Amino acid sequence: MTLETFHLICIIWTIIGVATFILLQFVTAPYGRHLKKGWGPEISNKLGWILMELPSFAIILYFYVTSNQSNYATVLTLLWLFHYLNRTFIFPLRIRTKGKKMPLAIVTSAIFFNFINAGLNGYFLANFENYTNTNFGDWNFILGSIFFSIGFISNQISDTILINLRKPGETGYKIPKGFLFKLISCPNLFSEFLQWSGFAIMAWNYPATTFLIWTAANLFPRATKHHKWYQSNFSEYPKNRKAIIPWIW
Ligand code: NDP
Repeated sequence: MTLETFHLICIIWTIIGVATFILLQFVTAPYGRHLKKGWGPEISNKLGWILMELPSFAIILYFYVTSNQSNYATVLTLLWLFHYLNRTFIFPLRIRTKGKKMPLAIVTSAIFFNFINAGLNGYFLANFENYTNTNFGDWNFILGSIFFSIGFISNQISDTILINLRKPGETGYKIPKGFLFKLISCPNLFSEFLQWSGFAIMAWNYPATTFLIWTAANLFPRATKHHKWYQSNFSEYPKNRKAIIPWIW
């Protein structure tokens, strides 16, 4: 495949991501607090998370071990694997979602989405990367790694606060407090967006940008739905909180 063809595929996939963003204004992905019947067979929520995220980990690992990547590309690969090690194998074991299910349709569509995004990023790093003139002192590595690190840490803190709202065995919802929850309903989703913005700045290529757009297409509608859900389920919900971007959205 030529680089031009590869870029064309990234552009088409980005357009589909934008269409998904529009679709998600009208459809709420039915998992977590938005779970509802009528979406076909369901599987365990924890197993669902592992299966959904596994392609993102396995595909990037596959391309890494079967290619000869530069040091710069290797760092990108390791950061990706580090994130997905947590999301695939650690996060699902930490969440307190006893007995909760997830529609197989959601798991299947997420596997597809992760397969393409990891495939594009892995394929680029294995076949097209030309980071010989890029070094770790360049502005985009420094800025991107700061965004990525802050995003990862903030995502961990936010997810931990949310997970700890339930005592073991509890299944209900409470109003989260502290940290960025003072400003927004979904700091975990905001942080995830920050993290992949950092990755895209570091990588500075088509597939990482495409992945960032897909991430935003998923996270922004989900945060908006979470925010409205809080407002309609808790009369005492803080009025000054935004959904995902402090003071703005
Ligand atoms: P949520 O905030 O909906 O849930 C995170 C966990 O905390 C779940 O176990 C949830 O339980 C629990 N929880 C959330 N709010 C409360 C509350 N108020 N009271 C009690 N428990 C609560 O996050 P998502 O499930 O949407 O996402 C999880 C992670 O995956 C996030 O870090 C997110 O950034 C990431 N993600 C990434 C995407 C991407 O495209 N890169 C897309 C979607 C998510 P329950 O499941 O029962 O609701």
